[in-house]
Amino acid sequence: MPKGHTSSDAVPGPGTSAVERVRVLLPLGLPGALDYRAVRELGPGPGLRPGAFVRVPLGSRERLGVVWDRDADADGGGFDEARLRDVLEVLDAPPLDAVMRRFIDWVAAYTLAPPGAVLKMAMSVPQALTPEAGVIAYLGVPGWTPPEGFRATPQRHKVLELLAAGPPRTPADIRAETGAGAGVIKGLAAAGALAVHRLAAGSPFAAPDADRPGPALTPAQAAAAAKLRDSVRAEAFSVTLLDGVTGSGKTEVYFEAIAETLRRGRQALVLLPEIALSAQWLERFEARFGCAPALWHSELGAARRRRTWRAVAEDRAPVVVGARSALFLPFAALGLIVIDEEHDGSYKQEDGVFYSARDMAVVRGQLGALPVVLASATPSLETVVNVARDRYTALHLPERIGGATLPEVDLVDLRAAPPPAGRWLSPPLAAALAETLDAGQQALLFLNRRGYAPLTLCRACGHRLECPNCSAWLVEHRAAGRLSCHHCGYALRPPESCPDCQAEASFAACGPGVERIAEEVSALFPEARQCIMASDTVAGPQSFGDIVAAVVSGAVDILIGTQIIAKGYHFPLLTLVGVVDADLGLSGGDLRASEHTHQLLTQVAGRAGRAELPGRVLVQTYMPEHPVMAALASGDRAAFVAAEMAERKAAHMPPFGRLAAVIISGPREGEVDATARALGRARPEGPGLEVLGPAPAALALLRGRHRRRFLVKGARDRRLQPILRDWLARVRPGKAVRVQVDVDPVSFL
Ligand code: ADP
Ligand code: ZN
Repeated sequence: MPKGHTSSDAVPGPGTSAVERVRVLLPLGLPGALDYRAVRELGPGPGLRPGAFVRVPLGSRERLGVVWDRDADADGGGFDEARLRDVLEVLDAPPLDAVMRRFIDWVAAYTLAPPGAVLKMAMSVPQALTPEAGVIAYLGVPGWTPPEGFRATPQRHKVLELLAAGPPRTPADIRAETGAGAGVIKGLAAAGALAVHRLAAGSPFAAPDADRPGPALTPAQAAAAAKLRDSVRAEAFSVTLLDGVTGSGKTEVYFEAIAETLRRGRQALVLLPEIALSAQWLERFEARFGCAPALWHSELGAARRRRTWRAVAEDRAPVVVGARSALFLPFAALGLIVIDEEHDGSYKQEDGVFYSARDMAVVRGQLGALPVVLASATPSLETVVNVARDRYTALHLPERIGGATLPEVDLVDLRAAPPPAGRWLSPPLAAALAETLDAGQQALLFLNRRGYAPLTLCRACGHRLECPNCSAWLVEHRAAGRLSCHHCGYALRPPESCPDCQAEASFAACGPGVERIAEEVSALFPEARQCIMASDTVAGPQSFGDIVAAVVSGAVDILIGTQIIAKGYHFPLLTLVGVVDADLGLSGGDLRASEHTHQLLTQVAGRAGRAELPGRVLVQTYMPEHPVMAALASGDRAAFVAAEMAERKAAHMPPFGRLAAVIISGPREGEVDATARALGRARPEGPGLEVLGPAPAALALLRGRHRRRFLVKGARDRRLQPILRDWLARVRPGKAVRVQVDVDPVSFL
């Protein structure tokens, strides 16, 4: 390609172009980085090195981006030199380090997302790229001589004397020591006698004290903690699975890894599944380290986000606890990543960039040469297989703390012991509740379904109330007086008559949600103090924390909740857990339905009997012979995992094979189908490769978009990304059609 004309004032070097170029990655869905001209005043010195945050023009706008590394195989400037535009500014922010840049490229290549879309997650707070104003302070200028006409008043003299030596002082300090006010300082600064310093805004995060004593660890905890400390000291990549039953004290063990990281002057990142609802975890952190960690989640206010991002980048936030997005924070000195409840589904992001924070944390650990700790009572099969293959090390905590025993689990066969008509609690469960209340203890009823009833139908004509935007039923929320779609948020007041046959008052609520269970509990135990915990009944982290505190203090007798109560809570007085519908997650035929149901119900069961009082769990099911139920009853996780593993292996499914989903969606069905058919015709073929579809997605309509899916199955030794990239490049989607790739899909909707 012919080079553009060089500008006259540039000094051409031997064999090189006259114009210094830089590649700049913008946080946008573009295919790659763009070339810009490095302006001399900005660089090419330290200012424009890779990683620098810069402001550049794009079209008629200005954008913030990052100077990106030059690809080894890039042509060194294909873009016409004459049309290059200038980098406008280097921002006053710590540059994005090489590990982070490689991480972003890696995630993009693996998930097939544009690198800029991944960068966008790392640049989620653009305001943080300019430093906070900070505090202005003054220092004398050495060798300054008074200009013509300078009036040396006694006050001016005092201030000059004070500020001749450091440190820089704030106007308040100056006034305190000399009595001089703002006018004196201004006058001196105008005469060039004082230099302005900007002191960083005070560290917003207190320093956790690694050496505060925690609880005396049990021998099993101490042994595990020692191993984790060793891996932190190694300052090398490793992955350790902390595999301990519910209530075995995993948190205190990985706190020791955090302590060691802090002693070495490095930062620790902890990912939790529901950070906004983790008041108990935060209390324990404070008890161990004497102060709160930095938080990172979607409910954080804008100012807090900005300070946190900046503090993380400037190594002023020693410990960050966050949701999956915290993985993309620009740590200055990361030394440890902990993923608590590593099996949890919330680590998978399923919009924008489709990624698994657990898997990408391992990648980040590898690129950054640091240890990763995965904690769970029910590790994912992927992790179990990685342990079996000696990629990960496992540490075991087989017993609960303080002599507490694991609860006894009994199955209630709903065919043999059905609840009364129109009720959902079987006689054995109702009896167990009565006993628990009589004993002055607490019970938890678990049903993973919000609202009152999942389906409303017309008794006259059978019409079902459905969402107009999604292939989904409307869920009745009786307390709120509305029917709503759990996928798109569409809501309406319950209609007076059937929209189909116009019959009046003909609606029947079918099936239970937590509200309906609460109604049944009120009828059975009118005296009992009950409380519903579901994401729509709890107003926010504060009220969630209040409910948790109320349960801990014994102010609640029966807690009724969805999966948000399954995670990590420690309720010492809770002795009975009733699972209302254990079969709920098994329908639908999802690849991991059994695994996830086993994990969730193990977590729920794990809430019972965590202190002195022994716990009991009753699991209502129509399928007592199902392997998940059998495993819950016997407590034999290993046997369940082995059987599940054998099935996956036989079917060449993950973790023994690779999967990727391709989702085609758009507002016009015909266009979506046309794109799906075109992709079908261009489908890749080859040994060890299978492409299923196109088929209507289980949610064939979602938020007004029609959806079709392909599932690509490959042998384990096959990389699907190049195949997918080639395939998708061969088809031009319809105008309003979106084609999304989900590598390692978790949801099959
Ligand atoms: P897990 O995460 O394995 O379910 P936790 O870490 O929540 O278990 O610990 C269960 C309870 O035991 C918590 O209340 C915790 O504070 C307490 N605990 C943990 N380790 C100890 C210990 N060594 N001594 C006393 N209490 C402990
Ligand atoms: Zn909807």
